[in-house]
Amino acid sequence: MKIKLYGGTQEIGGSCIEVDTEYCKIALDYGIKIDEEIKRQLPTDFDAVVISHAHLDHSGSLLNLTKQKPVIIGSKMTREVTMDLLLDMIKIQTLKKKIYSHDYQDVEIIRRNWSSRNSVALPGMEINLYSAGHVAGAKMTHVKSEGKHILYTGDFCVHSSEILDGCDITKLPKKPDALITESTYGGKIREDRTKLVDKFFEKIRSTIERKGNILIPTFAFHRSQEMAIRIDQAMKKGLIPLYKVYTISPLAKRITGYFNENKDYFRKEIQQQEKPFKYKYVKHLFRTTQIREPAIVICTSGFGHAGASLHLLAEWASNQNDSVIITSGYLPPDSPLTHAKEDRVFNYKGNTINVKAEVEQIELSGHADQNELIQLVESVKPKKTILVHGNLDQAQILSDKISKITEVFIPERNESITI
Ligand SMILES: [Zn+2]
Repeated sequence: MKIKLYGGTQEIGGSCIEVDTEYCKIALDYGIKIDEEIKRQLPTDFDAVVISHAHLDHSGSLLNLTKQKPVIIGSKMTREVTMDLLLDMIKIQTLKKKIYSHDYQDVEIIRRNWSSRNSVALPGMEINLYSAGHVAGAKMTHVKSEGKHILYTGDFCVHSSEILDGCDITKLPKKPDALITESTYGGKIREDRTKLVDKFFEKIRSTIERKGNILIPTFAFHRSQEMAIRIDQAMKKGLIPLYKVYTISPLAKRITGYFNENKDYFRKEIQQQEKPFKYKYVKHLFRTTQIREPAIVICTSGFGHAGASLHLLAEWASNQNDSVIITSGYLPPDSPLTHAKEDRVFNYKGNTINVKAEVEQIELSGHADQNELIQLVESVKPKKTILVHGNLDQAQILSDKISKITEVFIPERNESITI
């Protein structure tokens, strides 16, 4: 069995791992690198492609497979959300008037070739999926072939969030010949989640006291719904004062609809409610002009580099009463949000904006931290461990921590490893 890594090597983004055997060849994830100008070309001659979850760095190259039409494997939630994200991608490219060679019919081709079963048999190969706890529908992939077996984590998280159970690592197959794991937080131990949530509410309370606006740039899929529930519940419990709260993203609204219809992906407490993602205090708006200030606004893009979040950042950043709360762990190095946080100044449509608002990052992440990554390796006991989806410094720190338990590889792009 030969494993070749096309992306997500010593970096975050562009995840794609080829698994080649005598009988068939598959890809684990088929992503894009979001902040890269020249798009990478991935091979297209796969018999099957497994998509771990519906984030574009794991699924965003799928439209390049419309001619070869391999079987796409992934959960139903991953399928539905990926279809929406791909359509959104086409829309954005068209708006930018860039020449784009795909349309909605290509998205339909991908949908038609998608199998949402948790177990799939291919020639000489068996594939089983396990819940990964990262976002709704996220899966780990177990591949058995030629007497060997490998486990690929995709993105995963062991601790539970407000809406999702974490990955139960005790249920995963043991002693794989290779474990391919993400290493986003390989070098970082995060503060306890309840403490981070307290810190988040404290930031909201102090901004409300001075009647400021609060911008929360958030991804349309999962993080937006998680954030809306977090704030809605906190208001119901009186943890934060009542204030106007809005979400702005047609995509997030559509995904919220799926969430209400597919409650079985979520925690028991969520499943027991009739419409868990119908909020009491959070209202959906279509455009920023509908906002009645002061308000809390949850909007896309999550990286604050486009859409309503960029627009509001430009509008609010120079007001000292306002706050920007970033809850994502990763930020593209050259985005206005990164400059607003680090340099307190950024460029918007040719204007220089000096930042007076508070800009704070409170990482309510859906990724395993170093402790959880070590826990996984100790529990699964792999022969070889291949670290992907993490910058080199993070992967190296993790490698030092686990090298007594397992043989560790931190491959470069296009490197192959034989199992
Ligand atoms: Zn992800």
